[in-house]
Amino acid sequence: MPSDPLPPLRSVIADHGLSARKSLGQNFLLDLNLTAKIARSAGDLTRCDVLEIGPGPGGLTRGLLSEGARHVLAIEKDSRCLPALAEIAAAWPGRLTVIEGDALKVNPLDHLTPPIRIAANLPYNVGTELLVRWLTPPDWPPFWQSLTLMFQREVAERIVAAPGSKAYGRLALLAQWRCDARIVMSLPPQAFTPPPKVSSAVVHLTALPEPRFPADAKTLERVVAMAFNQRRKMMRAALKGLAPDIEDKLRAAGIAPTDRAETVDLERFCALAQLIKT
Ligand code: SAM
Repeated sequence: MPSDPLPPLRSVIADHGLSARKSLGQNFLLDLNLTAKIARSAGDLTRCDVLEIGPGPGGLTRGLLSEGARHVLAIEKDSRCLPALAEIAAAWPGRLTVIEGDALKVNPLDHLTPPIRIAANLPYNVGTELLVRWLTPPDWPPFWQSLTLMFQREVAERIVAAPGSKAYGRLALLAQWRCDARIVMSLPPQAFTPPPKVSSAVVHLTALPEPRFPADAKTLERVVAMAFNQRRKMMRAALKGLAPDIEDKLRAAGIAPTDRAETVDLERFCALAQLIKT
């Protein structure tokens, strides 16, 4: 791949006065070897459009481009970053489009051509909300092939968690029902400028063509949300309002009414959702 022709990120930040703002969750990655490594963990980008949320001064954007992304669409809320991003666009003609806006409000689909991958180092609050949106579209398969996302280590563990673990819950079930999800990198706070309080991890999720087990999406989301809303309660108590014969339905799905949600695996949650829907 052609190497990155632009100045080091520290100079970019100094030249454009991009002091990190806490209110925008700004913890920048300045090591281009690291951002190229994250871009590589997103898979083969050469035939893909990549949606990047929160490019900031452009460390990951530069990684995605130097790793060969066909086209990058970057959505950034902080207008201070736009001149630095314009320099990247000029260095990679026709390969980077930047939209100034809030990723929670902008619809990127008009600007993207499939196949599409998503990559981002996001502020943590926005990250979880976007992840849940990307995991719960009206139709499956979704508009994206894969998600490569930086999270607080604790959130990353909730996405890949197995039944019986403390981290297991709604996020694990939503993610693992229709995706393969794994942690591909761990990063200490010092990898960022300024360093956050906690460690981070990159999670790579690949959309499966079909859900792992059949279930109606809305029903499954409702059952899982209720079950984990009161995760210490027994399933029969947590799901009491769902059906008059909830104990029978739990048993039919292979779940003991006295089980707690954190011990129930994905297959049995899907079976229960099927029984509740019909
Ligand atoms: N990608 C850059 C990097 O790795 O160095 C910056 C990462 S920083 C953790 C998060 C970025 O998301 C910041 O540039 C911030 O301005 C931007 N951001 C915060 N909220 C946003 C939102 N709602 N929509 C789009 N961008 C947002």
